[in-house]
Amino acid sequence: MSTGKINVAVENIFPLIKKFLYSDHEIFLRELVSNATDATIKLKHLTSIGEAKVDYGNPIIEVKVDKEAKKLHIIDQGIGMTEAEVQKYINDIAFSGAEEFLDKYKDTAKDSGIIGHFGLGFYSAFMVASKVEIITKSYKDEPAVHWVCDGSPEFELTTAEKTKRGTEIILHIAEDSTEFLEEGRIRELLTKYNKFMPVPIKFGTKEEELPLPEDAAEDAEPETKTVDNIINNPNPAWTKQPTDLEDKDYKEFYRELYPMQFEEPLFHIHLNVDYPFNLTGILYFPRLGKDMNIQRDKIQLYQNQVFVTDNVEGIVPEFLTMLRGVIDSPDIPLNVSRSYLQADGAVKKISSYITRKVADKLKSLFNEDRADFEKKWDDIKVVIEYGMLSEEKFFDKAEAFALYPTVDGTYYTYPELEEKIKENQTDKDGKLIVLYASDKDAQHSYIASAKDKGYEVLLLNSPIVSHLLQKLETSKDKVSFVRVDGDDINNLIKKDEEHISKLSDEEKENLKKLLDETIADKAYTVKLEALDSTTAPFTITQPEFMRRMKEMQATGGGG
Ligand code: ADP
Ligand code: MG
Repeated sequence: MSTGKINVAVENIFPLIKKFLYSDHEIFLRELVSNATDATIKLKHLTSIGEAKVDYGNPIIEVKVDKEAKKLHIIDQGIGMTEAEVQKYINDIAFSGAEEFLDKYKDTAKDSGIIGHFGLGFYSAFMVASKVEIITKSYKDEPAVHWVCDGSPEFELTTAEKTKRGTEIILHIAEDSTEFLEEGRIRELLTKYNKFMPVPIKFGTKEEELPLPEDAAEDAEPETKTVDNIINNPNPAWTKQPTDLEDKDYKEFYRELYPMQFEEPLFHIHLNVDYPFNLTGILYFPRLGKDMNIQRDKIQLYQNQVFVTDNVEGIVPEFLTMLRGVIDSPDIPLNVSRSYLQADGAVKKISSYITRKVADKLKSLFNEDRADFEKKWDDIKVVIEYGMLSEEKFFDKAEAFALYPTVDGTYYTYPELEEKIKENQTDKDGKLIVLYASDKDAQHSYIASAKDKGYEVLLLNSPIVSHLLQKLETSKDKVSFVRVDGDDINNLIKKDEEHISKLSDEEKENLKKLLDETIADKAYTVKLEALDSTTAPFTITQPEFMRRMKEMQATGGGG
């Protein structure tokens, strides 16, 4: 047996680790299971290149709770460590890694909520354990070793009996961390962080029904056998090639990601790039309708199949946080604050790649099956319109698939709309006047008069429509959008037929008096020459810009 002292700069790092990471104690399990996974994958690699001359087999990782003895075990069948490696990787390197981490982030990290994203590694075990043991046997022909450390810088290193290759980590759970002796809590953590890790993880056993023999009696109970309860799916859809997946596989994976979500996604986008950065993932468009306030923490971020966070703010453009799915990238720096992320060059590239992929997918969906795309439009338009407002590149690309429906259910792209109305709907300067309604019922008489004159009337009713129109008017310069009940409708060059009021002069006079009294707000204009003499004797209109200003104030900055 040998003992030693970990080379510490600060007198005792362990109490610090413990106190400092208070709110994120649970990540210790992710770290230890990640190490077990790394050790297994390393062995796979070494056997595949002939470096390790052992049988790789079908290794699994096991997590075991021993509530009575107050111990938690994490057992792998990976490469293991020799005594010299324990010295080097656990006593020296892991430790200095932990120390460096604390040094760097102890002042800032706590508030910015980044702790959980950043692995403190092996030493995070001391956040929850009063004593940690490692029993490990290397794949190399060397005796197994047993390392024990009770949270002080002193450790103990002896040889051990273990004959099977791999590492067992034993945590003696501390008095204040007994929650981690509850099976339910451990299952919750494994499901949260390790659900898609690449090596099977066993947590307990379960009973599986055996198929009934052919000659079984009608009321025979099927026999059961006890099998390993594997809590993860080591080969999630996003790690596969799109060509190996069918539509039903994507839908199945969606259900795996969101077991409580019963509605099917509208479509998916498979992300897959390895240069100049690594990123895979699948994004789903859920049925959104007009709701801008949907839960925005549905996209999960992974690093090499380890769950990191479901807050992807700063990594994907804001308008895409309305989508769902998974992004996996080892290239997203997690040990920095959100504001730094937004300025990071690599992250900017990732964000614009994702934006481009989403735009390309929308375009191909539109081109492949326009009727279907039109059907989905009401459910996806919020994302697209919001994207057009907030991302210049997306705005340009959206020209090809953003739709402008009419009150009669025809869908135009902008170029099609322009073509359709350029003869008939311009003002005296040749500016295009696009008429639209926001509420078919409330504005029906205005819509009817406009249609009477042969004008096209769009139906635009998403919550950010004022912002979008403003954006279109500034980017396209020779266009004005005017709601059908707007004053500015009179700027349209009148068509030949006269619309003569049916009212007599006296009636007009009286009506005018009455209206002036009732409508105190001079922001309205009352016209007695009705747009359409058959349906309404007079109209009340309001300047487009005044109404839009009010709306824009109500919906906030928008873009
Ligand atoms: P990191 O995983 O980032 O390298 P850790 O502190 O988590 O840092 O682990 C330090 C080192 O200890 C690992 O790089 C590895 O060499 C060794 N190690 C930890 N756990 C295991 C394990 N289960 N099997 C083999 N080696 C391990
Ligand atoms: Mg690690």
